Amino acid sequence: PVDPQASFPLTPEGVLAKVFGFSGFRGLQQDAVETVMRGEDVLVLMPTGGGKSLCYQVPALCRDGMGLVISPLIALMDDQVAGLRQLGVRAAALHSGLEPDERDELQSDLRNGRIDILYISPERLLQPATANFLSKRQISLIAIDEAHCISAWGHEFRPEYRALASLPEMFPGVPRIALTATADPRTRNDILNALGMPEARVLMASFHRPNLIVEARAKASESRQLLDTLQSHREGASIVYCGSRNKTERVATMLRDKGLTALPFHAGLSALEKRATLMRFRSGEEMVIVATIAFGMGIDRPDVRCVVHLDMPSSPEAYYQQIGRAGRDGEPSDTLLLYGGEDMARARYWLEQSSAPDHEKRVMQARLESMIALTETTGCRTQALLACFGENLPQPCGHCDNCINPVSTFDGTQAAQKVLSAIYRTGQRLGAVQLSNILRGKTNETIERNAYQHLSVFGIGKEHSEQWWRAVIRQLIARGAIRMHGEYGSLALQSDIARPILRGEERVALRLEAKAALSASAGSNG
Ligand code: ADP
Ligand code: ZN
Repeated sequence: PVDPQASFPLTPEGVLAKVFGFSGFRGLQQDAVETVMRGEDVLVLMPTGGGKSLCYQVPALCRDGMGLVISPLIALMDDQVAGLRQLGVRAAALHSGLEPDERDELQSDLRNGRIDILYISPERLLQPATANFLSKRQISLIAIDEAHCISAWGHEFRPEYRALASLPEMFPGVPRIALTATADPRTRNDILNALGMPEARVLMASFHRPNLIVEARAKASESRQLLDTLQSHREGASIVYCGSRNKTERVATMLRDKGLTALPFHAGLSALEKRATLMRFRSGEEMVIVATIAFGMGIDRPDVRCVVHLDMPSSPEAYYQQIGRAGRDGEPSDTLLLYGGEDMARARYWLEQSSAPDHEKRVMQARLESMIALTETTGCRTQALLACFGENLPQPCGHCDNCINPVSTFDGTQAAQKVLSAIYRTGQRLGAVQLSNILRGKTNETIERNAYQHLSVFGIGKEHSEQWWRAVIRQLIARGAIRMHGEYGSLALQSDIARPILRGEERVALRLEAKAALSASAGSNG
């Protein structure tokens, strides 16, 4: 406990007030704290920013002994320890990044019982010497942070988390509290089973973040759309997620050329570059981080005003976590997902090519399909997103793009047939841009070289813009009627789904896109 001479009783409320300076618990915190205080196991599901840390920090300071906190990332541990030390809590982190003298000092502190909360990596905890040493100490609780890392279904699987199944043998009778912001039912069950606590109490907060404006838009001109969005957010920070390292570099350069402060962040940077970027990000400077998913866990800047995805996330869970980095201070914040049909088809193609074991592939495919469905949804996006986590939001949110501009649909069967015929007649080897050209009767070198202008489908869709046709193609991809084959973006028919449409046995309802994206003059480098 914090200070043996402390005059206040070490009740949870007392610790909350005296150590953390907060006047009351939020949401499910009190329930979580009381469960651990009774010595019972619990799984806490709360969105990012929901206040998970206090759920174990408070009981760790109230109960006798030292609290162990298992955490997957050194940066995460160091952040938490620094925060706690500022509050006067005797916290430390034990991981491979310690200097020899730091390690010696920590060992002596541990031996003398001078640590109240110890953050530790799973691989470190399970090293025989460490395990042996710690199992002889009095341990108040074991917190398993980012517990979804234990799930092979999860998007941040860490094999070393699997070994945490042996915790009850090493520390019999010590209550465990697992915490995560990933809440889909499958991951939840996986965590409980893998930790061997199927009967544990499950506390799940609502994942609704009313201050986040969820918006998705078809890609028309990626750079233009990105700039427009970022320029309306001159204060605070913005995060732009990209699917590849190269792209983060390219986009960051483009943004700097336009006068914004923009830095790339991805796993290919040196440790030094990463640290420097993170420091600037944390300093509160107004800036844009252009990142791969490597920029994620432990990012705790309250005033991220905007998160943009230039490429589609791999699953609704990943998407939710990434947009969840916006608006942690509770202020209104915007999120924008730009999506395109070829991106969807490409993601499917690469997954199909992946050498992952079959069962993993099937799970990843199911996640990708939920993500695609979420992107194409015509109803409230917030409701659709929460439904992925088994949560039912009774009313539409009122502030996502589909709530603000309700989507209308039209009978697009004929348009779909034109697209599918054009793909078939041109030998299933073209991408969306050339197909739109053919439908609109535009010639170019490729079209002439292959004599496509003589086909019956040439010019059968003159009345619509390129953007309009690309929107139709995208929706047919999302529906599964068109797939990509080969890595160069060639589109082919998925015959079991395409054939009934071509024969007129199945009607196709298409969404009418926002007018701006459809005007014939819109840009076309999506
Ligand atoms: P999570 O780990 O769930 O993402 P944190 O534990 O980092 O969330 O908490 C998010 C923020 O909310 C922190 O700044 C924290 O100090 C604050 N917070 C948490 N609980 C309370 C509370 N009961 N009263 C006031 N602020 C709180
Ligand atoms: Zn909505």
